[in-house]
Amino acid sequence: MDASILDLMKQRVVLLDGGFGTELIRHGFPKGACPEAWNVEKPEAVKAIHKSYFDAGSDAVLTNSFGGNSIKLAPHHLEKRCYELNKAAATIANEVKPKGRFVGGSMGPTGKFLQPEGEFSELEFEKAFAEQARGLADGKADFLLIETQYDLREALAALRGARTASKLPVFITMTFSRGPRGFFTMMGNSVAQCLEAFEKEGVPVVGANCTLNSSDMAELVKDMKEKTRLPIIAQANAGKPALSAGGEVSYSQGLEDYLEHIPRIKENGASVIGGCCGTNPDYIRRMAEVLK
Ligand SMILES: [Zn+2]
Repeated sequence: MDASILDLMKQRVVLLDGGFGTELIRHGFPKGACPEAWNVEKPEAVKAIHKSYFDAGSDAVLTNSFGGNSIKLAPHHLEKRCYELNKAAATIANEVKPKGRFVGGSMGPTGKFLQPEGEFSELEFEKAFAEQARGLADGKADFLLIETQYDLREALAALRGARTASKLPVFITMTFSRGPRGFFTMMGNSVAQCLEAFEKEGVPVVGANCTLNSSDMAELVKDMKEKTRLPIIAQANAGKPALSAGGEVSYSQGLEDYLEHIPRIKENGASVIGGCCGTNPDYIRRMAEVLK
């Protein structure tokens, strides 16, 4: 059997990919459409993005399935195609995967809330994520990444769902904001609370992505490292998004400023580093140089 991504983490920092949404738009993705539909409608465009990240030096790329759970697919009337779209997501990423690299099955949040704030039960979330995980596993993802989670309860439901559907290693990243009392998720979960829950559940790799720029992410990694011995994933945004008059999204942290904090993210204890919103293959190429 090939060496796993967990083995690679023991040897050196593992480099993930960067933002996907802006890359899709660059390939002509229309506003308001369903990104996951492109795994079957425009697989060549999705594959070209994955390939650009592998070429830039990513050890692993994440599948185009961030919104691929049935609850998130429902507004696009694609919920019945959840399995198919996720299996395709992993299959096409594997088609451009060089030997010795990896494909991670991306599992983003439902975008909905659990009872009592929302209408969904934990079991409904669990089932939605299980179906997604089944598709990603059958498409031969090497691992699953439950990512950008803002509610610990939802992250744990996703974990249970993923584990009922596949035997793949499941990693989790939460998204935290920085406030006067430290880092918290939107639902008020602290860093310590999340890490404790994930350790208890035997999650092998944990971390954070999105929301924070690379400077704040370095501080968060330091905080996490003090609270866990698990390998840590860090994927910072390139600052904050801003919308131009023409409707184009740009990000506040430029490439050079973003890169300046990457060594600190590593020194503070991240084992897996990638980009998030606002980053692109140029960022990853430069990060590969910095991390060397
Ligand atoms: Zn992001």
